Amino acid sequence: MEDRHVAVIGAGAAGLVAAYALKDRVAKVTIIERNSLPARKVRITGKGRCNITNIADTEEFMDNITRNKRFMYSAFSKFSNYDVMALMEDMGVATKVERGGRVFPASDSAKDVADALVKAASGDNVKFVTERAIEIELFNGQVTAVKTDKGRIECDSVILATGGKSYPLTGSDGSGYRFAKKLGHTIIQPKPSLIPLVTKEKWVSELMGLSLKNIAFSVFSDGKKVYSDFGEMLFTHFGISGPVVLSASAHLEDVGEKEYYAEIDLKPALDEKQLDSRILRDFEGAGKKHLINALDKLLPKALIPVIIELSDVPAHTEVTSVTREQRLRLGQTIKKLGLKITGTRPIEEAIVTKGGISCSEINPSTMESKIVKGLYFAGEVIDVDAYTGGFNLQIAFSTGYLAGINA
Ligand SMILES: Cc1cc2nc3c(=O)[nH]c(=O)nc-3n(C[C@H](O)[C@H](O)[C@H](O)COP(=O)(O)OP(=O)(O)OC[C@H]3O[C@@H](n4cnc5c(N)ncnc54)[C@H](O)[C@@H]3O)c2cc1C
Repeated sequence: MEDRHVAVIGAGAAGLVAAYALKDRVAKVTIIERNSLPARKVRITGKGRCNITNIADTEEFMDNITRNKRFMYSAFSKFSNYDVMALMEDMGVATKVERGGRVFPASDSAKDVADALVKAASGDNVKFVTERAIEIELFNGQVTAVKTDKGRIECDSVILATGGKSYPLTGSDGSGYRFAKKLGHTIIQPKPSLIPLVTKEKWVSELMGLSLKNIAFSVFSDGKKVYSDFGEMLFTHFGISGPVVLSASAHLEDVGEKEYYAEIDLKPALDEKQLDSRILRDFEGAGKKHLINALDKLLPKALIPVIIELSDVPAHTEVTSVTREQRLRLGQTIKKLGLKITGTRPIEEAIVTKGGISCSEINPSTMESKIVKGLYFAGEVIDVDAYTGGFNLQIAFSTGYLAGINA
């Protein structure tokens, strides 16, 4: 054990794992957290269930990182998804694997994960202080102390694990970017990722609350497809949300300035011909019903008037009078329900922040700053982010551990 004092700013996923890695290596660890309750964000992850990590192998894991994946190789190899699961088991949290390799606590309780992280970080030489860090102090280009709202904590190294800018009520308000910038680091402009999208069409708000399963969702820009996947989505008062929409958002740059167009295929398992036969069959079984009352088996009730109107077919046409052309138009609308994307929701509502401290100024083998001696970074404050599936927490755990063993 080295006779060193390390301060960790932020008791989130990254900071707590950093402290866990540190506590057997250095004489003293101080965790500076502005909230009296540590790991507030972890407690709300995965809709309260916490998707801790993913069982993906290294290559698949890297493919799920949207920015700067090469930066993550060392960190992931030093503290992998299996190391995280082992740590959870050691702390008494059994895990289970769900669809898409997503790992959850067997108890379905994010609180259990947060408590386990706090337990892992705790020790006789670890002190939690409820203080807000204000500045990192240097002498001769080397970290010497952290100034807080309550005083000054002298230390040999600092691990900056203050998170991104999303969900600021959990404590991550972007203050870490300010500290790093003041010390000479470049901040890649923080933007929202894994964020609901705002759309132009008026009919969208009429569908508020409607969730669609097993749809195909594609996004186009300049006529080119930039994203496509199957999954679930949700209509809201401002636009669209849900897993497939959040994942799509990670692929979109400068939404609002650049034009994006989304297409929903409501029946991806059927091609246009099969869908037309299906509609015909439904019409045959509908007797003299009006069109508006004849699509219940095919579409959710709330969507029917929207699809009929967008297809430009009078809603009260008897199904026996619907022409082939009108039927084909209905089929096309069902396969290509279009939406103009005008923006994203604000960064405060993002699941993660894309952007942050530039990876080019951080040593990927140690997480140490290339500019300031004794300064290390961990977690979402760094310019790395990933898709949903447990990858973002894994980024926090892996970088936290690597920073911890090196600080
Ligand atoms: C609603 C929601 C659901 C999510 N679900 C999942 C999921 O299921 N799986 C997944 O992989 N990812 C999920 N994420 C993303 C994941 O939670 C984050 O990527 C991860 O928590 C980042 O960890 P971190 O330690 O870097 O930052 P944070 O967890 O944000 O921790 C930063 C800590 O630093 C503290 N802090 C900040 N500034 C200061 C300061 N100046 N002084 C003292 N303390 C400070 C904050 O209070 C906070 O406790 C979700 C995110 C959200 C918002």
